[in-house]
Amino acid sequence: MKNLLRKSVAVILCPVLALLPILGEGVAYAQQTPVRSVQTLALREYLQKSYMELFELAAKLEFSATEIEAQRNALKSGKDLCVGRFKTHSKQYGSQIDAARKDLKKDTATLSDAKRTQAHCNIQNLDLLKSEADILAGQAIPTAYDNLSAKLDVIQQWPAEYKQIQQDLASGTYHTRRWGDVKDIGFRQIEPNQQDDIKRGSDAVEEMKRLGLMPPEVEDKAIQEYVRSVGDRVAKHSDLKIPLHITVLQSREINAFALPGGYLFIERGLLEAADDESELAGVIAHEISHDTARHSNKLMKRATIAGIFYQAAQIAAVLLTGGVAGIGMYYALQYGFYGLGLVLNLKLLGVSRDYELEADQLGVQYAWNAGYDPSGFIRFFDKMATKKGYVNGVSWFRTHPPFYQRMVATQREITFLEQKPDATVQTSAFEQMKKELAPIAAKAEKEEVGKPSLLITKEEGCAPPSKIEYKPDQPIEELCATPLRTVPTASSGKQ
Ligand SMILES: [Zn+2]
Repeated sequence: MKNLLRKSVAVILCPVLALLPILGEGVAYAQQTPVRSVQTLALREYLQKSYMELFELAAKLEFSATEIEAQRNALKSGKDLCVGRFKTHSKQYGSQIDAARKDLKKDTATLSDAKRTQAHCNIQNLDLLKSEADILAGQAIPTAYDNLSAKLDVIQQWPAEYKQIQQDLASGTYHTRRWGDVKDIGFRQIEPNQQDDIKRGSDAVEEMKRLGLMPPEVEDKAIQEYVRSVGDRVAKHSDLKIPLHITVLQSREINAFALPGGYLFIERGLLEAADDESELAGVIAHEISHDTARHSNKLMKRATIAGIFYQAAQIAAVLLTGGVAGIGMYYALQYGFYGLGLVLNLKLLGVSRDYELEADQLGVQYAWNAGYDPSGFIRFFDKMATKKGYVNGVSWFRTHPPFYQRMVATQREITFLEQKPDATVQTSAFEQMKKELAPIAAKAEKEEVGKPSLLITKEEGCAPPSKIEYKPDQPIEELCATPLRTVPTASSGKQ
């Protein structure tokens, strides 16, 4: 009974382990070498693995409840410390801004032009650092820890869940699950009166354009047509009963969103991040599902489009220096970790935990029914959670929040669908699209250099502070250890 032995050792270690997270993180900041027990370190390392790997591995792992609990506590205190750290950074930048403004006011009559420009740049850059710290504390870091907790849940709960799934399969009870009538897709009524959402959707598109929030379309007919063809294939095999309008946007952000009434937008960054057609189809199917089930309509109730975008413009203005809201705001939103996904109203997109679960389930069904490998969406999601670096995916994860139940429910649905041996994973058309996209993306990136700083800043030609780089597979703790940064000085700005 080696488990019993492990458990008794773990019980003795328990009070020590409970303290370790706090001590460990504290030491990590000071020396960048976290002190943890061997067991906790090993468990933490598993959390760097992908969800798909953990589904395979979970049954073989033997971590005790105590060890898992200790890790959970470590994650919680790690998150609190890390969020607190960047909140403190934000406050410190705030006081530096106040001090710089005071100095400027005091010296305004006597400053040389060069010194004045430098003072303006200084304030502007501190503003950028402050909003970056705010996004990290408010969005990116909590998301990173949410993903780690969800992975810990997989290790703890998936083996039992998997057994239940096998039982449901054997007994046939899986047929009675909600929306289990997958052979009738296209003839089911998920939600009546989908056509009532079309007006709201087109109003939202107009409003986004008016506020400068809507990135321009990718000017390449072949790419637009290709993505539309994937969308049409999925839509034809779904429960959507209204026309689908699908547009690829010229934006490096990795995201896709559905406005009500069949208006789907795929950002260029998502096409760059997708590795095969079933991933793209999976994302499109998920977004189609939100419109099919009219999630936005259910969440918005009395809210008006104008009110919702007024709010988006306010958020953007707070995030960005100068409070600029106008043509080309999408460029500004791409600076640092921002993105459309951070300012779009979640009710308008129909995002809530329950509706994400429903859109995941329906999306998997639609992709499957269209002949795609139904695991495309979850594979793409997993890649965002594992390889892309949590911070870079902050926009994606705001509109597609990570939690355990979501991963499990999707995996369960995939298991319940009849396997199709010839399901599409990759196509030559997808590979052709990627080839065409590469130079277009490179050109856009080149042209966009300078645009964000032009639009969000008032003083031109300032050397902006370096962005916090966050590499794929890097543990979040390393990002948490980033020290307070300084803005470029006059001499470093010339480099
Ligand atoms: Zn969604």
